[in-house]
Amino acid sequence: MTTEQRSRAPLPFLASLAGRVTTPADAAYDAERAPWNLSIDQRPLAVAHPDGLDDLRAILAAARSAGVTVAVQPSGHGASSALEGSILVRTAAFDRFDIDADARVATIGAGVQWGPVIDALDGTGLVIPSGTSRVVTPAGYLTGGGHSWLSRWAGLGAQSLRAAWILRPDGTHERVDDASDPDTMWALRGAGGLVGIVTQLEVDLLEAPSMVGGVLSFDAADGPAVFRAVRDAAVDAPEGLGAFISSMRMPDAPMLPEHIRGRSFVTLEVLARSESDLELLDGLRAAATPTEERLGPITQAGMAAMSMEPEEPSPGGGSSHALAGLPDAAIDGFFEWRSREEQRPLVGFTLRMLGGVLDEPERPAFATVAGAAWITHSLVPQFPGMPPEPGLAALAGLDALLRPHLAERVVPTFLGPGETLDRCASAPDLARLRAIRDAADPDGVLHEGRLPR
Ligand SMILES: Cc1cc2nc3c(=O)[nH]c(=O)nc-3n(C[C@H](O)[C@H](O)[C@H](O)COP(=O)(O)OP(=O)(O)OC[C@H]3O[C@@H](n4cnc5c(N)ncnc54)[C@H](O)[C@@H]3O)c2cc1C
Repeated sequence: MTTEQRSRAPLPFLASLAGRVTTPADAAYDAERAPWNLSIDQRPLAVAHPDGLDDLRAILAAARSAGVTVAVQPSGHGASSALEGSILVRTAAFDRFDIDADARVATIGAGVQWGPVIDALDGTGLVIPSGTSRVVTPAGYLTGGGHSWLSRWAGLGAQSLRAAWILRPDGTHERVDDASDPDTMWALRGAGGLVGIVTQLEVDLLEAPSMVGGVLSFDAADGPAVFRAVRDAAVDAPEGLGAFISSMRMPDAPMLPEHIRGRSFVTLEVLARSESDLELLDGLRAAATPTEERLGPITQAGMAAMSMEPEEPSPGGGSSHALAGLPDAAIDGFFEWRSREEQRPLVGFTLRMLGGVLDEPERPAFATVAGAAWITHSLVPQFPGMPPEPGLAALAGLDALLRPHLAERVVPTFLGPGETLDRCASAPDLARLRAIRDAADPDGVLHEGRLPR
């Protein structure tokens, strides 16, 4: 930090950090405060880039003495609120990870992204329950629940969290696991950073040496038949199969690749632990003929590349729900609604198959979708020059359409801006979480996150 920057620091203790601090007076502030979804305008008091544990401790102390809060956001895919009156902490300096194949565990720093971890596992026959995006961090994903292609046999990502190193609001830094601190582990498995700042995670590695997967594309007109066929196959699909079906209606936007620009289509992405878990596809091919099929042996890195998740921040909106079931009326209602001209802002609608071991989580966790059948994600990108209102109206319309089919809880990593953990847990679980947070952070030094105080 330059002398000029130090003199501008709003909180005197932050001036002593070894890492960088940016305040609204700095030119870099706008770039550094920005989350991944650029529609969210977060304006923290300062953005701190601690260079290690001592800096993190100093930030907590500075916040405590100034009566402000600390919000941790490694890369901001899950940003939710304005962060006014908070110090925003970026954890990029916690950038180490280690794979111990014998002990089946990865030890991962709080600033590491999934990309390098899954690349390091490529060819080992071991996998880790990452999500679809390479640029999301294990810290944000695992502490928010995390759902992936592997979840029907590996559980939510949070289930793979074996232990964590956590800096508590009082400055204590310690390793916690289910034996030493079951309450903290339960909260870390889904409720995010409400009880402390995680510096390192210990995450299970799983054996999957012969995965098979890929994507099948279908004409948009076959959408109802494909959705029905996948729905029917889900009833007794093997737990080793992960499947996402998407209905896509791409705008005629110049920044899109030619082969999808202005086109509507349906895709089925599948990832199976082994070839035999793919039998579901036989029934599907009888229901509709794929226009394109790319299936074969695949690794986790290959699957992430195939998902083509955007890696650069952009503005946009979305919403997600867990569904208890998917009756014919819901499928037909959706496709009729989607065909209307005013619903064009809804570019993508995805259904991810739940069930399998998700119904019987092994480790105690705040996040669960036990008993739910599907999780949805709706995507309304904000293209340059387009007003946001039609997109918001489309999302509201879709929410109303799905309401009769909702399951009890959604995965916290699927919450949108401003949404709270109320959508993710029962009243007793929320009460337990509040009690754990009150005990861990009695002075409210950590930002309230998705559990308003
Ligand atoms: C393109 C894209 C694809 C996605 N795909 C999936 C998917 O397949 N499955 C899925 O489940 N989710 C998915 N998500 C959602 C994503 O997993 C969550 O938003 C996740 O929380 C974001 O991680 P992040 O690294 O950006 O964390 P941030 O958004 O930076 O942080 C999110 C929260 O995590 C907690 N946190 C992060 N680091 C720490 C720490 N060191 N200590 C304490 N708390 C911490 C805090 O509560 C923080 O508010 C996707 C999001 C995007 C934008």
